[in-house]
Amino acid sequence: MDRNKKIALVAHCILNCNSKVEGLSEYGGALREVICYLMDEGFGIIQLPCPEMAIYGIKRWGHVKEQFDTPHFRNVTRKLVQPILEQVLDYVKNGYEVSLLVGIDKSPSCGINETCSSKEWGGYSSNGNMAEKLEKLEMVPEKGIFMDEILKILKENEIVINCTAIDEENIEDSLKHLKKFI
Ligand code: SF4
Repeated sequence: MDRNKKIALVAHCILNCNSKVEGLSEYGGALREVICYLMDEGFGIIQLPCPEMAIYGIKRWGHVKEQFDTPHFRNVTRKLVQPILEQVLDYVKNGYEVSLLVGIDKSPSCGINETCSSKEWGGYSSNGNMAEKLEKLEMVPEKGIFMDEILKILKENEIVINCTAIDEENIEDSLKHLKKFI
């Protein structure tokens, strides 16, 4: 069979849930349903780096978008994406179709449709009433910082891409949504 030149960029933890904050994975190793679906549709898969793992490691706690919205986090995410961007540019120049970006909804880094937010949350060292602060965590219809930067970088380089995300609590609906782009 000839190669079909279709490529998807996927959030790191779709292929390796071990990068997630400990206790937050809903699956064992890789998110089989998503990967198998992309494979069945003939996509080659490029695994994006995990920015939180790269910057904070596996012993980090859960964060909100506001904590990652710093010049440093944004700069580092840009540097992490640079080698991927160089591959994408070369693929596109040579007639390949890099047409799909798959994030992880609710993540403060990789959310596409929604991301975890709070103006008060600072982790377990937050001053004040912890229970109250936890109650004020909310999902907002915004992108996570990493996806925000990736989409800006792609736009700066005139790469047009469809983006969608997996909600790990609702894989079935996420797959339905993913299918709309394929
Ligand atoms: S959602 Fe993004 S930042 Fe969070 S574990 Fe997955 S790849 Fe890493």
